[in-house]
Amino acid sequence: MTDYPIITIVIPVYNEQGNLPRLFERLYPVMQGMGKSFEIIFTDDGSRDRSLEILRGFAADHPQVRVIEFNGNFGQHMAILAAFEVSRGEYVVTLDADLQNPPEEIPKLVAEMEKGHDAVGSVRQKRQDTIFRRSASLIVNIMTRKMTGMKMTDYGCMLRGYRRNVVDNINRCQEATTFIPALGQTFAANPSEVEVAHAERAEGESKYSVYKLVRLNFDLMTGFSVVPLQLFALLGVLMSLFAVGFSLFLLARRFLVGAEVEGVFTLFAILFFFVGAIMFGIGILGEYVGRIYQEVRRRPRYVVRKIHEQNN
Ligand code: UDP
Ligand code: MG
Repeated sequence: MTDYPIITIVIPVYNEQGNLPRLFERLYPVMQGMGKSFEIIFTDDGSRDRSLEILRGFAADHPQVRVIEFNGNFGQHMAILAAFEVSRGEYVVTLDADLQNPPEEIPKLVAEMEKGHDAVGSVRQKRQDTIFRRSASLIVNIMTRKMTGMKMTDYGCMLRGYRRNVVDNINRCQEATTFIPALGQTFAANPSEVEVAHAERAEGESKYSVYKLVRLNFDLMTGFSVVPLQLFALLGVLMSLFAVGFSLFLLARRFLVGAEVEGVFTLFAILFFFVGAIMFGIGILGEYVGRIYQEVRRRPRYVVRKIHEQNN
């Protein structure tokens, strides 16, 4: 029992061959400098470049490094979950492989957890992303806060720390799609946030297309809240009330002014608006039905091909 490491670092990797050597060069000294036992778990999320080869090299040279090799690309959050499953540290810290989260900030997160916080989020200072990403994040952050009622400033930043009890609870969740910072927040009794530096992606391109980002945010909204459904029911009620009022108005008008035939296109515009609203509603419903379907199928969320580590 006593040879469990104190700190676990979790890093998802997807086609990051250009970043890995520099990442490790910076991360390893930071961890050694902290003077606590540690393990570093990389998940290779089905990379098609030399990432796995490089990671296996780290594992061969360092007893603290383990590499989970996925059978394909299952996404960043599944990669983190797989690492959580095999993690053993009391303090678990997640970070990105592209050096957008400086490894030098890890001691800050651990210090915050040692103060008794069981989930430590981070807020990106001077965020280095495109204006499009920043404004999209701003909207998502506000919407998520309103809908889920969780108090988190910056959902998107993956440099985060979780205490063992939070990680254990996350491991008990078997949902097919998820969003780890929100899941962690759900189980945290005493969450906290620190400010961290943020850098531009060192090499390569973001692994998230606009479509993947939209999907991720739908998962965040529908996975942690039913407010979209409730809002939609409310909207339906308001529309019906409006329709009743409008009918009464038309009835009165019929008696006062006479029959009305013009304004057909106005009617079309109104109709299109309502049809759009209805399709939107069906879409939201579909999101939830889709999630239920995924859960019901109970397929494995990811497939691990092999775990690479020094056998000592
Ligand atoms: N990532 C992953 N699987 C994926 C997409 C991304 O493991 O399908 C990893 C990626 O290698 C990186 C982290 O998740 O370590 C964040 O990805 P990225 O930097 O592309 O996202 P962004 O910073 O643009 O949000
Ligand atoms: Mg990045």
